[in-house]
Amino acid sequence: MDERIRELLDKIRGTAAAAGEAAAPTARYVGQRAGELVDTAKLNIQIFNQNAEISDLLRRMGQVMYRTHLGQEPEEDVTALLAQADAAYARLNELKDEVAALRQGQPCPACGALCAKGDRFCKSCGAQL
Ligand SMILES: [Zn+2]
Repeated sequence: MDERIRELLDKIRGTAAAAGEAAAPTARYVGQRAGELVDTAKLNIQIFNQNAEISDLLRRMGQVMYRTHLGQEPEEDVTALLAQADAAYARLNELKDEVAALRQGQPCPACGALCAKGDRFCKSCGAQL
């Protein structure tokens, strides 16, 4: 393998641990907006946009890799792009979870959190459903 690409990949590997820590705040974000009224159509538009953002980030990472291969200075910092991609994928997964919950669940009458079909108590606030 190209030595410059090997160095780039080593740099990328080192960011994996930090990415796991960055995912935590987005999980809390779901809880904060659980009370908002959302519908599947709006969520699907957001999923579409999120996929487009991810495609763009992956394309830009590809440019970094190719410029590295050519021995040119990349135009963007690959670790910053990776952090953005991690956040974008985390958000995409949240949106998909919300769609799945809407399809098969019900909102909690007390707090608005989406609860699964068949749940007897809200997993967010504990209220009876
Ligand atoms: Zn609740």
